Amino acid sequence: MASFHQSVGALRNAFLEELKEAIHSKDVENLKVKYLGKKGPIQALMVSLKNIDASERPKFGKEINDLKEELISHCDHSLARMKGDEQNIRLQGEWIDITLPGRKGKVGRLHPITQVMNRIVDILVGMGFSVQLGPDVDTDYYNFGGLNFALDHPARDAQDTFYLYTERDAKNDDSEDRSNRGIMADLLLRTHTSNVQVHAMEKHAPPIRIIAPGRCFRNEDISARSHVFFHQVEGVYIDKGVTFRDLFATMDEFLGKLLGGKVETRYRPSYFPFVEPGLEVDVRCISCDGEGCRICKETGWLEVLGAGMVHPNVLKMGKIDPEVYSGYAWGMGIERLTMLLYDIRDIRLFTENDIRFLAQF
Ligand SMILES: [Zn+2]
Repeated sequence: MASFHQSVGALRNAFLEELKEAIHSKDVENLKVKYLGKKGPIQALMVSLKNIDASERPKFGKEINDLKEELISHCDHSLARMKGDEQNIRLQGEWIDITLPGRKGKVGRLHPITQVMNRIVDILVGMGFSVQLGPDVDTDYYNFGGLNFALDHPARDAQDTFYLYTERDAKNDDSEDRSNRGIMADLLLRTHTSNVQVHAMEKHAPPIRIIAPGRCFRNEDISARSHVFFHQVEGVYIDKGVTFRDLFATMDEFLGKLLGGKVETRYRPSYFPFVEPGLEVDVRCISCDGEGCRICKETGWLEVLGAGMVHPNVLKMGKIDPEVYSGYAWGMGIERLTMLLYDIRDIRLFTENDIRFLAQF
């Protein structure tokens, strides 16, 4: 069977010739399929074994198998070498210059109002107050009645308050007499965070020492100075023997921590229905140190918050005996404070979501 032996040798030579021509690993893969695949010459030789005399089959079978092993081994070696080279070439193309300056990812940040509010809350929590949140939508009682706002107080006027539901609407009563209105059931968007005081007195017995940060709403014309939507932080402390001195000490310490260092405060009498007496608290202008500038309107002072001793009527409505307990409360507008701290001249910037403005904080 010399011819069989010759055809194995010819096959080997043909394969080696073709392998020499292979440039890419892909060429070798194709060669492998061509020679060793099911329709390839090796397989054909295997099939042709049946034409050979049975006694010689094992010998030639082994010869074919040896050739097959040899071809596989050639292919594997070539592939390993070529793939290594090809990877090196690809890596050279992908070379990275690690000395180039990096590209900075854009990181989000908290809104300036949130930042100032968090700062205020951190300071007051550090001074022993706990945070209590109240509803944005509340009844007239929690927003006004329980805070000693008389029925004819101008702040209840629909010009200032967003009412969501009124008994008067329900009864189709267009009389101007407010006392005819079932005002206690009226639903509104809270005009201040003081509603939380009333909820707190209902839920807890004194001592009460809470702060209430949150959103407020007023039906006002939007301008550089006022908006329909803003934030406040309200604080209240009720216990036995709380006096004006406690209020002064707390405000002085709080404002010192908020504005940094030693701030000079000034207390002026004022009126809010839910405190008696009421106060307006000013600080020496942080921008001009009292010299007079545009921010303090040449007065040297900045009005930062309203405060006072909790009105006995408010305590009574909260089922707290004003003969035994007393307390102080204060509230501040966060937009106003943030505008002072950063010299921002238009309150509308806070809600316009202009990234050029927000990225500055
Ligand atoms: Zn000033």
